[in-house]
Amino acid sequence: MEPLLNADLHCHSVVSDGTLTPEALAARAKANGVQLWALTDHDEIGGQERAIAAAKAEGMKYLTGVEISITFAGKTVHIVGLGFDHTNQALVQGLRNTRGGRAERAKEMSDGLAKVGIQGAFEGALQYAGNHELISRTHFARFLVETGVCKDTSEVFRKYLTENKPGFVPHRWASLENAVKWITGAGGVAVIAHPARYGFTANEEFALFTEFKQHGGRGVEVVTGSHSSADALQYAETALEFDLAASRGSDFHSPDESHTDLGTLPWLPGQLKPVWELLSDRIQ
Ligand code: AMP
Ligand code: MN
Ligand code: MN
Ligand code: MN
Repeated sequence: MEPLLNADLHCHSVVSDGTLTPEALAARAKANGVQLWALTDHDEIGGQERAIAAAKAEGMKYLTGVEISITFAGKTVHIVGLGFDHTNQALVQGLRNTRGGRAERAKEMSDGLAKVGIQGAFEGALQYAGNHELISRTHFARFLVETGVCKDTSEVFRKYLTENKPGFVPHRWASLENAVKWITGAGGVAVIAHPARYGFTANEEFALFTEFKQHGGRGVEVVTGSHSSADALQYAETALEFDLAASRGSDFHSPDESHTDLGTLPWLPGQLKPVWELLSDRIQ
């Protein structure tokens, strides 16, 4: 397969914090010309069977997917897994444990918001969560937009849901080592998601990439909805430096909120090895 494949290997459904069903995402991906698709819900693979069936019905190639939340150097980092066996029990159990702390965290977020006069945020956010095990900051953001506290979700994150803001609750997610092991142990490839988003120092970033490789990680997102073209160039260099395959994905969540639609991304830079070349026997 060639680098000029319209692969979109990162997006979210109602099974995590997206607003569309796996079936609606598959139809939208197909309509936008996607040739190889992966649904990568946060910490959850409960949508994979539906995505596999929907991709098949649309005549689109598919890789299983997930986006695992980890804590590294005190920050939350996301590791995408692709092409794994979604029935693997270590992966299923590890993800279940990762989801486990979300309800408690959400109640603490709600308490923080109550202190600045925003009442009922836990119940409000829960109404937007298609999967109650996966209540996330995105659902709080939608509630605060719907109730007129902010004009859009980015304003909510800026004012309420990021570090040192009233609704932010620090959380300890999975370890880098476990996330990579769950994915690779299930026959998949681990990929560092949207690296430009973390705000690491050069040393921290070097440590992330080095340890990720040591644990068996093999890919990095170079072209994603949250990277500028300068970011893509920078992480193309990083991919070469660390001998990592490159991935491409929109990180689409919602027609109303996402700036990058499914399948509408720049191509991967030609000198990189596309991650799907490592996964040719896992494509269904
Ligand atoms: P959580 O896993 O509950 O911490 O929620 C993280 C999710 O919030 C991410 O996956 C994004 O969908 C969303 N998010 C994070 N930062 C922002 C932001 N600045 N603006 C809009 N959405 C964001
Ligand atoms: Mn999200
Ligand atoms: Mn992410
Ligand atoms: Mn994502």
